[in-house]
Amino acid sequence: MIFESHAHYDDRQFDVDREDLLRVLPSKNVGIVVNVGADMKSSASSVALAQSYDYIYAAVGVHPDEVESMDAACIDRLRQMAQDPRVLAIGEIGLDYFRKEGHACKDTQKYWFRQQLDLAVELEKPFIIHSRDAAEDTMEILQEFGKAHPDIKHPGVIHCYSYSPEMAKQYIAMGYYIGIGGVVTFKNAKKLVETAKEIPLERILVETDSPYLCPEPNRGKRNDSSQIRYVIDKIADIRGILPEEVEKQTEINARNMYGLLQ
Ligand SMILES: [Zn+2]
Repeated sequence: MIFESHAHYDDRQFDVDREDLLRVLPSKNVGIVVNVGADMKSSASSVALAQSYDYIYAAVGVHPDEVESMDAACIDRLRQMAQDPRVLAIGEIGLDYFRKEGHACKDTQKYWFRQQLDLAVELEKPFIIHSRDAAEDTMEILQEFGKAHPDIKHPGVIHCYSYSPEMAKQYIAMGYYIGIGGVVTFKNAKKLVETAKEIPLERILVETDSPYLCPEPNRGKRNDSSQIRYVIDKIADIRGILPEEVEKQTEINARNMYGLLQ
């Protein structure tokens, strides 16, 4: 079965048919979905979805684009939400320097990134990193985190990985998993294809980031977890192995990281 490690079914784009879609996903070989929060509201919605569907679990956290309005009370609420046993991780959290206007400055992003990393440590949960156009600062903060917590063997996943294969190997040496989604099927995805080829299969998680980043041949359409099979097929093709092997190993990997053992 497919372990979808990162989706956003609380997104407005699913308002028209959310229940119908979520009812049929398990019949399309999607065995587990982690619905990931991106702000306070979507974190609460993620928990609600996880409480409504057996195969859906949640992550709670605030995305770097949304941290401008955060305060200490938000950390308290995230801590409360994470008491639900269906909350497996803190995320998505990190740094995003892509959009400049209307979003928090670098220092504010770094501050709330560190605060949420501390929360993950306190709750003994893994975390889901979003990092865009912020390669150096993300690495610096996670290296500093690694020095402070050498006992944490597998701290989390670098979701929708977009940097170099060399940096992916560096993250793997630090214990991280690498999240690969629809982008690996895109024509211009040279770096990610190299990464998917060169890193150990034991450290890859597959994801959609639904409703975004729909893989080829459906690029541009609304994404959902059934589309993850194109990602699995592509990774299998790149590595010269069977899709079943990729599906099986990425399930084991995600179970290990999220602590959802069979
Ligand atoms: Zn996401």
